[in-house]
Amino acid sequence: MVDMDKIVSLCKRRGFIFQSSEIYGGLGSAWDYGPLGVEFKNNVKRLWWRDNVHLRDDMVGLDAAITMHPKVWEASGHLASFSDPFTGCADCGRHYRADQIIDAIWNSRWFRAFNKMLEGPAAKKDIQKAVENWIQGEGKKLAPNFPQSILSGNIRLPLEGANDPRFIELLRVLAHSSNGNVMGFLCPNCGSGKLSDPKPASLMLETFLGPVKETATKTYLRPETAQGTFVNFDNVLQSMRKKLPFGIAQIGKSFRNEITPGNFTFRTREFEQMEIEFFVVPGTDEEWHQRWIDERFAWYEKYGIRKENIRLREHEKDELAHYAKRCVDIEYLFPMGWSELEGIANRTDYDLKQHSQYSGKALEYFDEETKQKLVPYVIEPAAGADRSALAFLVDAYHEEEVRGEKRVVLKLHRDLAPVKIAVLPLLKKNDRIVETAKKLCADLRKRWYAVYDDTASIGRLYRRQDEVGTPFCVTVDVQTVGDDKSPADEKVTIRDRDTMEQVRVSMASLESIMDELMAGKWAEVAQVHGIKKD
Ligand code: ATP
Repeated sequence: MVDMDKIVSLCKRRGFIFQSSEIYGGLGSAWDYGPLGVEFKNNVKRLWWRDNVHLRDDMVGLDAAITMHPKVWEASGHLASFSDPFTGCADCGRHYRADQIIDAIWNSRWFRAFNKMLEGPAAKKDIQKAVENWIQGEGKKLAPNFPQSILSGNIRLPLEGANDPRFIELLRVLAHSSNGNVMGFLCPNCGSGKLSDPKPASLMLETFLGPVKETATKTYLRPETAQGTFVNFDNVLQSMRKKLPFGIAQIGKSFRNEITPGNFTFRTREFEQMEIEFFVVPGTDEEWHQRWIDERFAWYEKYGIRKENIRLREHEKDELAHYAKRCVDIEYLFPMGWSELEGIANRTDYDLKQHSQYSGKALEYFDEETKQKLVPYVIEPAAGADRSALAFLVDAYHEEEVRGEKRVVLKLHRDLAPVKIAVLPLLKKNDRIVETAKKLCADLRKRWYAVYDDTASIGRLYRRQDEVGTPFCVTVDVQTVGDDKSPADEKVTIRDRDTMEQVRVSMASLESIMDELMAGKWAEVAQVHGIKKD
């Protein structure tokens, strides 16, 4: 599994994602999508929209406002209960989600170093002494408030991860030695044992609409797009004449005042969601729920997520939101461990009923067959555009050795790749080559996002395109345009990113061949045209 640091660094180096407000020192956990990042994330959203809206006749789209009537959040229950428990460190002032503290410790810098020390030869010889030395040395820098009392040496490593029972046992021992620790854990930042009792913290971000704060309307930046869909249920029903079952899909920004944002774009305070509210006749909800679980799982596989890196997790009864009948998460094996990619919940008729009650407007469906009104049940597949994009990036990242050199390649699905084709001149000093390549690029651009690049040697240009996941490079060389010795053959070389194989094809047939390649037919094209030998 690739380290998150490598992904962050590639994203910055290659123009995918930059830290927000970096020249001012950066704003924690806010990220800006750069030139390639915006293409890539747009592709994620476009494919989601195409597959879930355009290719289905039981779905329509919506784009609701981010700010809504404050009553919406009373009715939805967000004002009363959209909160996470948090704990704060009395020594360094950092806050953490109390329910995620174990993962936070496992991923902390001091714990990683501590764990590594415990694996080393010094600890194998005399664990007591090794721990003491660590506290005085590396520990002082990484975890200055680590309890000085000495850890007993009865735990043997290496530990497998945050779920390893020996890790939990180790935490217990560490906490015990920190005296009077209510939480039973140490601070992931400074190692202190002074973590407060968990308290709930609202995740709603307040905002004021109006020029004078005192008289302005206080409302909230939406924490999910779903409520915009529920309050528009009747508008959509009346204007579109939909019959049950049908869904409303939305892509848009949501905001949550997360206590511990982090892990790059995995958890931020501002993020984009891709949510479906699928309305069904009560009684058919369980079957529809299962269908959506299967369908959404298959979607990630379709765009390249490897089977071994994705799984379903059924919510335990005590973890279910009070209105949910069943909820299943699609989880991805991110660098920091298995984490939620998408949640698929059966929300019953809770939301429509709540909004009916609070607004006084009936949100019902008239069933022509039974001639009765009913309140539909809702199946909600709720995905994150940023999290999906991150999962696709992590999964696509490969390091390979090619002729003794390291090759970094993003094996992104063609439909996801930010740039589809790079047109490269073999010699940038040859005007005919450059002119032909630029014209070719302009022609290809009408169909696919193509770029022209002549800023390095061909080998480097290939590597650069590999690193950003461009599936195909088209090279124009002397033979293409001809010279004093030989006439132009009007052919170009196409190179496939994943196999690095090359075929030589006529420029006139390039567009139709690209059509085949974009449909995933490299092997077929290579068979017809023959693999070019170097
Ligand atoms: P988590 O348990 O990770 O906080 P959640 O269960 O609260 O997530 P949902 O309310 O189900 O998340 O939101 C649906 C999807 O929206 C999530 O699966 C995720 O992809 C995305 N999402 C939620 N919160 C964030 C966030 N803070 N940053 C980025 N994406 C998010």
